[in-house]
Amino acid sequence: MSATPHASSYYAASANDKVERPRLESIIETDVCIIGAGYTGLSSALHLLESGMKVVVLEAARIGWGASGRNGGQIVNSFSRDIDSIEGVVGKEQAKLFGKMAFEGGQIIRDRIAKYNIDCDLKDGGVFAAMNAKQMRHLEGQKSLWEAHGHNNHLELLDHNGIRNVVNTDLYVGGLLDKSGGHIHPLNLALGEARAVESLGGLIFEDSAVIKVDDGASPIVHTALGQVKCKYVVVAGNAYLGKLLPELQAKSMPCGTQVITTEPLSDEMAASLLPQDYCVEDCNYLLDYYRLTGDKRLVFGGGVVYGARDPANVEALIMPKLLKTFPQLKGTKVDYAWTGNFLMTLSRLPQVGRIGDNIYYSQGCSGHGVTYTHLAGKLIAEMLNGQATRFDAFAALPHYPFPGGHAMRVPFSAIGAWYYTLRDKFGI
Ligand SMILES: Cc1cc2nc3c(=O)[nH]c(=O)nc-3n(C[C@H](O)[C@H](O)[C@H](O)COP(=O)(O)OP(=O)(O)OC[C@H]3O[C@@H](n4cnc5c(N)ncnc54)[C@H](O)[C@@H]3O)c2cc1C
Repeated sequence: MSATPHASSYYAASANDKVERPRLESIIETDVCIIGAGYTGLSSALHLLESGMKVVVLEAARIGWGASGRNGGQIVNSFSRDIDSIEGVVGKEQAKLFGKMAFEGGQIIRDRIAKYNIDCDLKDGGVFAAMNAKQMRHLEGQKSLWEAHGHNNHLELLDHNGIRNVVNTDLYVGGLLDKSGGHIHPLNLALGEARAVESLGGLIFEDSAVIKVDDGASPIVHTALGQVKCKYVVVAGNAYLGKLLPELQAKSMPCGTQVITTEPLSDEMAASLLPQDYCVEDCNYLLDYYRLTGDKRLVFGGGVVYGARDPANVEALIMPKLLKTFPQLKGTKVDYAWTGNFLMTLSRLPQVGRIGDNIYYSQGCSGHGVTYTHLAGKLIAEMLNGQATRFDAFAALPHYPFPGGHAMRVPFSAIGAWYYTLRDKFGI
């Protein structure tokens, strides 16, 4: 078999499971056919299997080939836009439902790791780092907001000295530590979840791009060489779905973000950079994010390329950001550099819903998706088992096309990002 290989990343090089799954070459029947084997697809599959349904997952390339196998590995709680923004759209009462769910995705990940014994270098603790007083005020508000929604005991504000004790850089004025955040080897999490799916009788086919979906009472999902007849379809292709379902395209935009990984650092250097081994992201609109791996490399990501064009030289783009944060790493070799796409919506809230009678989708978590995608799988399983409240709450969030339509969404977004970057720079 010759499936499109994983991006040439540190994660692919250190993957626990290199077994290729078969290509779909026959006609099969199941309860639910899932398109895409990233976290959204795998989490949906696991929850559905646990509820007693039969599941087939079709993946165009390899398990975790998309964002789920390439990301920064940061378990960031809540959503890309926080509960206060959601409250502005849905009102105070309904916002409470979202508030309750804001930390659930992270808990699902930890439950999966424990229940299915997934080896993915889980570490506790994530830091949001403030670059100026305005961002610090924002973090103070975020802590109060999360606590007002019942997420207490694991949040701690860090002053200048406090953040200096957890990140060895002069860049930050303070921060917020979320002890229930943390980090993982993202591809090994996806591969472990895939094994768990198979252990419950789920079938996963790689190199099996879906090319057509027939809607109706009994949908049929087509690949080049096979078909899946099912009761429900779950669309989990996110930024890589392309034109398969054009109705999903207008209100979202694939964006690239780039990651580099250094050679392994000495124990002393690793401990001096991030003594508690927390992961860190700053509070800029175009943010930097970084953490140590299990073998003490620094994984550092940042920036956004609207429209998901691959930059020619990822290392040249990201290394200056890394050195600005940690000048002490000058001369350190970069072993891996790659790019990956996430899906952005105008509101930066997930795009969730149903097409026709039996096709369900969740996509567009806009940069922070590791936890939300795990929650999404649970909500989809609840929906298909007749409990629609939480899925419907997300599905009711309004989404709008990017200004100027398909042709202008990249320039308009770039102008928007430039504006927010300037505000970040001057702390206004
Ligand atoms: C470089 C990078 C860094 C990031 N860092 C973080 C982070 O640190 N923390 C965080 O919270 N979020 C992060 N994110 C976002 C997060 O990774 C994503 O939101 C999340 O992984 C999306 O999961 P998904 O399953 O919806 O999509 P994906 O993981 O992209 O999976 C979609 C899958 O569907 C498959 N597919 C598409 N079309 C078809 C088809 N027609 N037929 C069959 N299969 C198809 C694709 O091949 C792909 O494997 C990052 C994203 C990127 C790109």
